[in-house]
Amino acid sequence: MTGIILPVGRYRASPSGVIGLSGRVVAPGDNALHSAELRLAGRPLPLVGTARIYVCGITPYDVTHLGHAATFVWADLLASVVSGAGVTPVVCRNVTDVDDVLTRAAESRGRYYDEFALGQEHQFGQDMLRLGVRRPDHEPRARHHVAHVVQLAAALLETGHAYERDGCVWFGGAEALARSGLDRDRALELAAAYGDAPDDPAKRDPFDVPVWRPSSERDPAWPSPWGWGRPGWHAECAAMAMAVLGAGVDVLVGGDDLCFPHHTYQSAMVAAATAGSAFARRELHVGAVHQGGAKMAKSTGNLTLVGELLDRVPAPAVRMLLLDRSWSVPWDYEPAALGAAELRLERLYVAAGRTLPGDAGGSAVDAVTQRLLDDLDVPGALDVAEAEGGDAARLAVKVLALG
Ligand code: ZN
Repeated sequence: MTGIILPVGRYRASPSGVIGLSGRVVAPGDNALHSAELRLAGRPLPLVGTARIYVCGITPYDVTHLGHAATFVWADLLASVVSGAGVTPVVCRNVTDVDDVLTRAAESRGRYYDEFALGQEHQFGQDMLRLGVRRPDHEPRARHHVAHVVQLAAALLETGHAYERDGCVWFGGAEALARSGLDRDRALELAAAYGDAPDDPAKRDPFDVPVWRPSSERDPAWPSPWGWGRPGWHAECAAMAMAVLGAGVDVLVGGDDLCFPHHTYQSAMVAAATAGSAFARRELHVGAVHQGGAKMAKSTGNLTLVGELLDRVPAPAVRMLLLDRSWSVPWDYEPAALGAAELRLERLYVAAGRTLPGDAGGSAVDAVTQRLLDDLDVPGALDVAEAEGGDAARLAVKVLALG
């Protein structure tokens, strides 16, 4: 046997980081961030190869305000940091296009819910495009995943976590209450505020929520083993996440108002249906944006529209306004803050234009990346970038998509 003869000369010119036949290891030197150092929500989140990120998206019945934008810009930054660390983010951002609020909004305009939703989705897409938010890899719509909600309901019935009553499949909520860490009164208050109707006599326990429910003449309806009906809100996101990303995700992202009941129930349903443990390794609940001391909301007219802001100032200034703070802390928007964000951006650009001798910026680049990997500490990264300039500032501009 003669063995295999390799063309030695060709392999000596191997790319960096590959062991050539000469046995020499060449350091890559082109990957500044290290995913193993990522911390999120106060704890290490080691990632290998892929990061599955599920972002709770919009219910398309209304215009995008600054509070919505904050969630999606932070999700975008997370994907950017993960990507810079050599891990491929797989982002799934759903559209909740089966929802009673949407149905009523369409009805009041004499429109079909799905056709009305598409128009709103288009507007939202335009706002995200202008803000420089990258398109997610997956954008599932609830109405395309009704069959998966039926599968989820069947799985929950099978595993004893749900029961059927008069065409409605109820998910037993005792577990969800335990997971929430909330006291009962506060949880009841939130359940009522977010439409879970704890005082509905049709269910066994105030904390039970519908996985599937019958539809009236005015609601969209699909066939199911329990009659014509439609999915419950929490079940929609549970089913979409499982159908697109599998039984677990690395990060679950949403506004902090989604923490309970929505994300608590979504996670509890997935765990119950799969006999798994936690659905999300980490949750990124973005602090609410207030205005005049109250949460932004269309219902009260207390809001700033993203589209209107973008007509007045460049998108990087709006991104700076949203990102130059701690992601988890609620804050109050004041127009003066936009001017401060523009000045911060200007200083960063000036710093990025500075040229440093030799590799003088190497440690500053490392410092910027360390700040970003440490719970997405944008203010810390920007402080270093601004002070040190050169490559460090250029890296901040790139990762934060401020260019
Ligand atoms: Zn959701």
